[in-house]
Amino acid sequence: MKLYNSMSKSIEAFVPYHENEVKLYTCGPTVYNYAHIGNLRTYIHEDILQKSLELLGYDVKRVMNITDVGHLESDADDGEDKMLKGALRENKTVWQIAQYYTDAFFKDCEKLNIQKPDVVAKATDYIDKYIDFIKTLEDKGYTYSANGNVYFDISKFDRYTALSKMNLEELRVAHRDDVEEDTFKKNPQDFVLWFTKSKFENQAMKWDSPWGVGYPGWHIECSVISLTNLGEQLDIHCGGVDHIPVHHTNEIAQTESYTGKPWTKYWWHAEFLIESEGKMSKSSGEFLTVSLLEKKGYDPLSYRYFVLGSHYRKQLTFSYDSLDMAQNAYFKLRKRTSALAEANGYQAKGKTARNYTDMSSKVLSGLTSEAKTLVEKFKDCLADDLNTANALTVVYDVLKADIKDTEKVDLFEYMDTVLSLKLLEPVESLNAEVSDDEVQWIEAQLVKRAEAKKNKDWATADAIRDAFKEKGITIIDTPEGAKWQK
Ligand code: AMP
Ligand code: ZN
Repeated sequence: MKLYNSMSKSIEAFVPYHENEVKLYTCGPTVYNYAHIGNLRTYIHEDILQKSLELLGYDVKRVMNITDVGHLESDADDGEDKMLKGALRENKTVWQIAQYYTDAFFKDCEKLNIQKPDVVAKATDYIDKYIDFIKTLEDKGYTYSANGNVYFDISKFDRYTALSKMNLEELRVAHRDDVEEDTFKKNPQDFVLWFTKSKFENQAMKWDSPWGVGYPGWHIECSVISLTNLGEQLDIHCGGVDHIPVHHTNEIAQTESYTGKPWTKYWWHAEFLIESEGKMSKSSGEFLTVSLLEKKGYDPLSYRYFVLGSHYRKQLTFSYDSLDMAQNAYFKLRKRTSALAEANGYQAKGKTARNYTDMSSKVLSGLTSEAKTLVEKFKDCLADDLNTANALTVVYDVLKADIKDTEKVDLFEYMDTVLSLKLLEPVESLNAEVSDDEVQWIEAQLVKRAEAKKNKDWATADAIRDAFKEKGITIIDTPEGAKWQK
């Protein structure tokens, strides 16, 4: 297995601390709103990482935190409290908001076939442990208190810029006037471990501590949750690229100061999903969620297929046109793979990469050499820093290969333990076969209907909708025009 390591900025051979055991930590969501499909792109690739490692024979333990406290709007210590903002917006308590959006997050993950991590830890369940952790840092001389808050002093940790490669001097010069500065910090990059004085008098989540009633800083949860559940040394730590300069940098500083040991061997970061206008956001423009895609007639797994078509270290631009293309290709592929499965009496057994032992032993030994080559090719793509786009093309190679249909189905099942596209499952939820003539007729009617609506000729528009209904065709109006589904 080869993986890109953001710490060395190069592709490295993957060698975990302990033989084939992989300790994997993935930063989880801040549960103040729905996840947008950009966030979910990162989680899809993390899912691929875990499943690929498992397919390649590693024993993976994965831990994820749920941020339900402490994350201010910026990754540094300024801006509003995200949870509080969510609570005010919806007139609910922060606890209700946290529960609701945690459930919503895992529902979205399920729709995208993202496996739930072995351990999911809520930040608010570890308060006592943060306090012990900060006390140790304090005893070791890494902290200072000012204005009631406890800060980490980055000048005490000489590898502070190892991951970000930041030039702190340049940053100081480039300081932005519009960012509210915390004048109590000795260095602008010092960060809060424990807040007692905050701008938010009505902070609902607060706990007693040796430094006064307050709440933890954001970064501490990942260090402590990881140490508690995975021990002092971690093989892979994941997140989006935005985590590099502040969140992960601060995690490293406090964790290595606490343990006195090197911590994470491989830093893994996914690039952003962007929109043609630029950065994806939860507050401006169209808020792109899985449910919105569903409302517009997309299968969530079409989005997964779209994501797998590009490399996790490249930015990906979202558009409905490219999602349409992905959905078309995905439906076509799945129709072919599931039809082969059906014709050969297969049923999806829900096997996972983790428990897929048949392919490596019994089934693999019975495969023809051409089929074995395809298995190896698939594994090589994943082992090559998770080249999902190439891995997908191997599925098409299998369709074309000169091997028995039963072998093809075995291979689809095997590959789907990582791709997780339900390749063997029947397609009744997908568009029924539609003839070319019928497509032409539908398209012509849609043009007529748009024209009628423009002229406020509701009778004609309704009549066309009824005609569609009779043929089992549903129209979905979207900002890009009407789409249809049979
Ligand atoms: P958050 O809930 O804001 O902490 O973000 C959850 C995860 O999504 C983190 O790993 C972020 O790095 C990642 N992320 C945020 N925005 C995007 C985006 N536009 N594309 C891909 N990943 C993102
Ligand atoms: Zn984190």
